[in-house]
Amino acid sequence: MGSKRPNGSFATLSQYFTRPRSRPSISCNHFKSTTTPPLPRHTRSISVRATEYLQLHDPDLTDSQRTVREAISKICSKFPDSYWATAEKEHRFPVEFHQAIAGDGWLGICMPAEYGGSELGIAEAAVMVQTIAESGAAYAGASAVHMNIFGLEPVRKFGTDEQKRRMLVPLIAGEHRACFGVTEPNTGLDTLKLQSKAVKVKVGDESGSEGEGDHYLLSGQKIWISTAQVAEKILILTRTTPLEGVTKPSQGLSLFYTDLDRSQVQITEIPKMGRAAVDSNSLFFDDWKVPAADLIGQENHGFKMIMHGMNAERILIAAEAIGIGYAALRRAALYAGERHVFGRPIGQNQGVQHPLATSWMELEAARLMIYQAARLYDEGYEAGEYANAAKFLAAEAAYKACERAVLAHGGMGYAKEYHVERYFREVMIPRIAPVSREMIMNYIGQRVLGLPKSY
Ligand SMILES: Cc1cc2nc3c(=O)[nH]c(=O)nc-3n(C[C@H](O)[C@H](O)[C@H](O)COP(=O)(O)OP(=O)(O)OC[C@H]3O[C@@H](n4cnc5c(N)ncnc54)[C@H](O)[C@@H]3O)c2cc1C
Repeated sequence: MGSKRPNGSFATLSQYFTRPRSRPSISCNHFKSTTTPPLPRHTRSISVRATEYLQLHDPDLTDSQRTVREAISKICSKFPDSYWATAEKEHRFPVEFHQAIAGDGWLGICMPAEYGGSELGIAEAAVMVQTIAESGAAYAGASAVHMNIFGLEPVRKFGTDEQKRRMLVPLIAGEHRACFGVTEPNTGLDTLKLQSKAVKVKVGDESGSEGEGDHYLLSGQKIWISTAQVAEKILILTRTTPLEGVTKPSQGLSLFYTDLDRSQVQITEIPKMGRAAVDSNSLFFDDWKVPAADLIGQENHGFKMIMHGMNAERILIAAEAIGIGYAALRRAALYAGERHVFGRPIGQNQGVQHPLATSWMELEAARLMIYQAARLYDEGYEAGEYANAAKFLAAEAAYKACERAVLAHGGMGYAKEYHVERYFREVMIPRIAPVSREMIMNYIGQRVLGLPKSY
């Protein structure tokens, strides 16, 4: 057994993961001047022959999506499964990968050109993160860059020009890493009840305008904050007007993008099931001094601003999920073809083959929903049913694909050598975060079907 390559029994399967054609290397900055000529269209099928490169000929990708796929696939080919298994084992943030993605400007894929971005859409960003996860990087790879791609959407939309320059430029260049602080231990999904607070201290002139030295004092707790061990910055949501002082609970919350100052914030890592390379943390802070200049948009209007990025995040999480699903399926098909028991490949048994075939169909169906949601988002559609449905369907399809991949490997599915156990542990994440399956069903029941609010 071991991890040897397959023995050529896949003549009937064409190039899902073929080697890329010989073409010039492409960076995100490429989009500023030109685009790649379209490749010939092929059917979407899986070749388990090659694990180094991902298939580039999906028939439905636009030219710019295909260019993204090709360039990201090329970067990811330098970070094989063994890199991610080691990062997991050593519990080490994938710095080299983050730098490789930042190096070619990819962190600015959706950001304005004047701050160093490429102004592409969520549809291209979804291809980017799907490709990262699908390369075998799974959530460790996707989460290492995820927040930096879409997370500063509220700054892009509501920040001043000075803030955009100060905040977006170093993020896009990979000089700053940012984390995202919304969830709190005592309130969970009931975000509007969050208990952390910020109190303004005015030391500038009395005219009412912002003075130098004006700041907020933040006190409270956050939980599950990804990358806080390595991030220099945090986008944090906190209450500036108590619930009793507002007419609607969505009012009175404010958003800050500021230094994650370790002398003022106690950060404790949470031991967890998977994705050990990318940390998750509890944060505790008491009178943490945050400059008033780091408030994004208007005080008390933070919830609306954070909501703006939510649909985009759901689309990206969904794309990452199907990426893992395809990675698991690729490995399962590879194994099912080469593992012989009872005198034939196990994949010749319909009991092994059919669940994998079903997973391909489920992943493709979720993929269509993701790219429909992304297209609508890029066209300015603001409602959340497609983004939520895409996240739900993708997470479930990916979970099933990973589970089936583990089972198709038999005992070796439980061994680290074949990587599917790592995918399986990580694929739980999109079922839980950033919003649970139940809350998505609540949303669809209420907003789409017009049923009474159930909670
Ligand atoms: C690996 C990982 C990384 C994360 N990264 C971040 C991050 O970077 N930043 C951040 O802010 N957060 C992050 N989160 C937090 C994540 O968004 C939350 O865990 C998630 O939103 C669920 O909240 P909770 O854990 O408090 O669940 P709870 O609110 O305690 O809910 C528990 C369960 O009860 C169900 N439930 C609750 N209320 C209802 C209801 N009314 N109807 C039906 N079911 C209900 C939920 O669906 C869920 O299944 C991360 C979480 C994980 C696991």
